[in-house]
Amino acid sequence: MPPLPPCPASRRCVLLAGLAAALAPAGAAAEARRDPAGDAVAVAADPRLAELWRCGAPDCPGYTYDPLAGEPEQDIPARTAFQDLPWDFACPRCGAATEEFRLLRKRSPEETAGG
Ligand SMILES: [Zn+2]
Repeated sequence: MPPLPPCPASRRCVLLAGLAAALAPAGAAAEARRDPAGDAVAVAADPRLAELWRCGAPDCPGYTYDPLAGEPEQDIPARTAFQDLPWDFACPRCGAATEEFRLLRKRSPEETAGG
């Protein structure tokens, strides 16, 4: 079996590299903005904020909506419950509508408080 050729800078490779570059700074910013004590108070007031919703589209590379983080790329502020997302919210990874999302699990109070 001949060795695999190096990545020929196909469209997919370029897309993935761009995606990785785009995600890294956003993730760091979201982390810096987190306020665990405030999150715990927000969850106590609205338990829906502890829900993690996963995109269930078959062709999705994988995306979980975290209400405490929101979705900055789509101007969704932190602490926006999944149920309060705008009707045109779409999975940032594959573009699926919210109907494709399934409740993954709920954060435990310990997790919310900074774990
Ligand atoms: Zn998706």
